[in-house]
Amino acid sequence: MIKQIEIESFNEKIIVKRILGKVKGSKESPTVIAIAGIHGNERAGINSLLTVFKTIEAEQIKIKGNFYGISGNINAISENIRFKNVDLNRVWTSEKILKLYLEDDLEIESQEQKEIYEIIKEILQKENGPFYFLDLHTTSSDTQPFITISDSLDNRTFSSNFSIPTILGIEEYLDGPLLTYINEYGYVALGFEAGQHEKKDSVDNCVAFLWLALVAAKCVKKKHVKKYSFYKNSLSLFNEQQDFYKIDYKYTIKPFEQFKMIDGYKNFQKVIKDELLAFSNECEVVSALNGIIFMPLYQKKGDDGFFIISKISKFWLNISRVLRKLHIHNILKLLPGVSSEKKKPYLLIVNPKTAKYLATEIFHLFGYRKKVVKNDKLYFIKRDRKVSKFI
Ligand SMILES: [Zn+2]
Repeated sequence: MIKQIEIESFNEKIIVKRILGKVKGSKESPTVIAIAGIHGNERAGINSLLTVFKTIEAEQIKIKGNFYGISGNINAISENIRFKNVDLNRVWTSEKILKLYLEDDLEIESQEQKEIYEIIKEILQKENGPFYFLDLHTTSSDTQPFITISDSLDNRTFSSNFSIPTILGIEEYLDGPLLTYINEYGYVALGFEAGQHEKKDSVDNCVAFLWLALVAAKCVKKKHVKKYSFYKNSLSLFNEQQDFYKIDYKYTIKPFEQFKMIDGYKNFQKVIKDELLAFSNECEVVSALNGIIFMPLYQKKGDDGFFIISKISKFWLNISRVLRKLHIHNILKLLPGVSSEKKKPYLLIVNPKTAKYLATEIFHLFGYRKKVVKNDKLYFIKRDRKVSKFI
């Protein structure tokens, strides 16, 4: 087990252990599991979790079910870096988890992953659902708070409790984030980006988010949260209504590439086609389309340069909800070039030639996410899933 560490974070001396807090309430369910610091330089989530656990204890707030706080990359947290060798939020695939049990000499991030994996597994075996997973992050650029989710209807419903922008489908552009892995077992899982890494506001935003989430999950009663209205307002200050966004473009930084974002871009700032956004090896990188810039990279580690996103219409959101509720996704399997396996009914195997004329958008509408696999096939994986045994 990785030992606890003591750090100074946001002018506070704090102790970081793998389990940051644990409260067992009167009833058996629900169970809320919050993870903080899976990126070691994103400490706001850790401070906020410790604060919330302290308040629960000091004010003897009644809890229904269970509330857990888990820390992420403790070795990286101790050095205030995103990760040491491997990004701990890009390793959550069945193959990589299996490897944790096949190799004796695990490198540093794999040890962390194994501990987190075993704790999550134990909680899922021991406690009762519904389970709600919250992953707390911050960004290198200045930003208002936002949520990222896999586009399942359960995730959408839960994220509607927060009046902040929600970005759907970022997992199609990332390899192996923890929440995608958890989602595939049918659990609700929200990523919360609280603000810029160093800003104290990010801690406050995380605290507000955690209380709202505990109330939304019915773990805590609204009337027991003294500053509930303040928390609700402080998050919704940024956006009166909730908007959903989709990702249209991602700029990936290649190995050894010198990438430099133009200074001053704020998250959710509008950009126009051909606007100069960055320099790559001293060559200009311009926007490929009109849209909204998302997560521009202002730190050294990480290979996502920036994203371009756009707002999703209410019409699309409603239509996709109705289609999914009617369970008519099976018609996709009748299309030429689309097949599925009996054992994995949630998976569609699509011939890339078919995919060319059948827009990814169709699969998104029915709640599938795209996964590119090596042997010339495309996988589309259903996001709305029944809860299955976590392995
Ligand atoms: Zn992060």
